[in-house]
Amino acid sequence: MAERKDLVGLSRDELAAEMKAMGAEPFRARQLWHWIYHRGATDFAAMTTLAKSFRAELAERYVVGRPGVARALSSVDGTRKWLLRFPDGQEVECVHIPEEDRGTLCVSSQVGCTLTCKFCHTGTQRLVRNLTAAEIVGQVMLARDALGEWPSPQDDRQLTNIVLMGMGEPLYNYENVATALRIVMDHEGLSLSRRKITLSTSGVVPMIARCGEELGVNLAISLHAVTDALRDVLVPLNKKYPLAELLEACRAYPGSSNARRITFEYVMLKDVNDSPAEARELVRLLAGIPAKVNLIPFNPWPGAPYERSSAAAIQRFADIVNAAGYSAPVRTPRGEDIMAACGQLKSASVKRRKSELLREAAAS
Ligand code: SAH
Ligand code: SF4
Repeated sequence: MAERKDLVGLSRDELAAEMKAMGAEPFRARQLWHWIYHRGATDFAAMTTLAKSFRAELAERYVVGRPGVARALSSVDGTRKWLLRFPDGQEVECVHIPEEDRGTLCVSSQVGCTLTCKFCHTGTQRLVRNLTAAEIVGQVMLARDALGEWPSPQDDRQLTNIVLMGMGEPLYNYENVATALRIVMDHEGLSLSRRKITLSTSGVVPMIARCGEELGVNLAISLHAVTDALRDVLVPLNKKYPLAELLEACRAYPGSSNARRITFEYVMLKDVNDSPAEARELVRLLAGIPAKVNLIPFNPWPGAPYERSSAAAIQRFADIVNAAGYSAPVRTPRGEDIMAACGQLKSASVKRRKSELLREAAAS
């Protein structure tokens, strides 16, 4: 028997075309979509609104797949990480970070990354390939399975937000990322709002406007340096798209406003980019952009050429950025016992920090 095709990851149009090719009526595609993305069904036999004979026909030709899980890890703080393995043996990470008022899923877009940022472990991986739309949306499906969130709940979700901050550069795999995100945002399925989705890029300038116009998701920029000289070293893509061009693209990002700020990620590297002068320069660079700053304590890996800034240096840096009116939470490390590539892993919301402080205060 020929290998059965996976229906997960097909756009609505592609699914409709498959149904048409089977001779099924157009509304069947819509019913299937509901079963796959709202109900989370993986077995055609369970799709009881479809005729039995049609279900059998579907099962002959198709599957509703999930990524294989090579390893599943849980941190003491509730963070969960899945190491996914695809049929070609390639692996990526997917991480769920629960917080008091939300839960964020950190999704990968590529196996490895071609961009070789100096402080990033993913950039040292030799093999690189794009994930398919199925492999990207499959991470969300798998997390929903694991969290027991089918059918797509309206309230009290544990998976409320998605960040494309796992492995890979999403804007180097734009088409597949876009197809996957359109599926994730579809109101008759997973139904996550674009306001709850953040795409992080190291600065692929020519793709930024398109991302805003077509997807309308939140933008995060991996800035990490305030001069071209240093950013050329830390984020080599800067040589192609220097700071001025990158910041111009941010100023023009569709839909950004004070209510919807662009996040600037800044990894804190000891004695490399963490001085007060650099904090002041950062403030100057961001003038005129609705921005917030994520200070990410460097997450060390074996053989890494950098160290994490001291807590005092991070606090000093944050104070300067805060004083200029930008929110710049000093992030509490999360899930460190299960080490992951996710840029959010080292993050926790300000709210969480406050509640932790309150708990501490109450306990003392
Ligand atoms: N390629 C995209 C998205 C994936 S990386 C990008 O670069 O934006 C997600 C975030 O994690 C980025 O801000 C990245 O700079 C950060 N990051 C990578 N390695 C890190 C490390 N070792 N410690 C802290 N943050 C890291
Ligand atoms: Fe790639 Fe992002 Fe890592 Fe840079 S930081 S190597 S762009 S994954």
